[in-house]
Amino acid sequence: MMFLWNGRLVQENEIQVSYLDRGYYFGDGIYEVFRIYNGRLFEEQAHLSRLFKSLREIRITLPWSESELSGMLNSLADTFGEKDGILYLQITRGAAKRSHLFPASAEPVMLGYCEEVARPVEQLKQGITAITLDDERWNKCHIKSLNLLANTLARQEAEDAGAQEAILIRDGRVTECTASNVMIVKKGVILTHPNGPLILDGITKQVVERLAKQSGIPYRTTGFTLEELMEADEVFVTSTTKEVMPVTMINGIKVCSGIPGVITQLLQQGFEQKIGLSAVP
Ligand code: PMP
Repeated sequence: MMFLWNGRLVQENEIQVSYLDRGYYFGDGIYEVFRIYNGRLFEEQAHLSRLFKSLREIRITLPWSESELSGMLNSLADTFGEKDGILYLQITRGAAKRSHLFPASAEPVMLGYCEEVARPVEQLKQGITAITLDDERWNKCHIKSLNLLANTLARQEAEDAGAQEAILIRDGRVTECTASNVMIVKKGVILTHPNGPLILDGITKQVVERLAKQSGIPYRTTGFTLEELMEADEVFVTSTTKEVMPVTMINGIKVCSGIPGVITQLLQQGFEQKIGLSAVP
């Protein structure tokens, strides 16, 4: 298995992370998760753009351009073979004596690798269950920051409650989930939270928005409340690894009749056409 380490393809034993790395002390860095279908990066440009946006937001400058980085990522993906997986990439501000202030001289530290991840075919057919929790994260959720403590705590709480995701609520309104965006369907209209600092602008969400427009399904980013969530006709979450995932039960209560909804299934079919695979019959 090969790794992308500060611009070079290397073996694992060549990776050396300093004990002073700011990612380790402060979570001072950002990451991206690219989907690989059949050995090829899916929606690569959208992920790259978001990565560079996250970097700008936390004021890290990479020594490579977007197209140079793209070349490296594709070389890494080439070493992975024609499989389904993810490419995980993270960049920290680098190593420097521990201080809250940005170091004057640290070089960003970049690590990337591929990992086999199968499509969650069974869950895509059956749906998943979720619980609702207070959104206790900070106010810059649009940055794909390494600081994921609130997300991991909420995800574990969902797991402990026997659910697969936590849907987060801020001031009575639904923002997103611990590792996915969330949408509802009410009377044929798709509703989701507007972009901005309270959610991550998911790449899968962007794909769903395009699919909805192509299929003539009204798509509104006006957001929705906890009450509207519980009374929705359909609920689904979107992410790079969950794709368009139906949610069939929330807080132990069935979403409508408790089976994946028709619009959700329509979007799943559209999504599969885009990725050139079909596993949800
Ligand atoms: N929100 C959060 C908090 C996430 O971690 C993710 C997964 N990266 C998403 C939304 C979905 O984003 P994407 O579709 O780009 O995977």
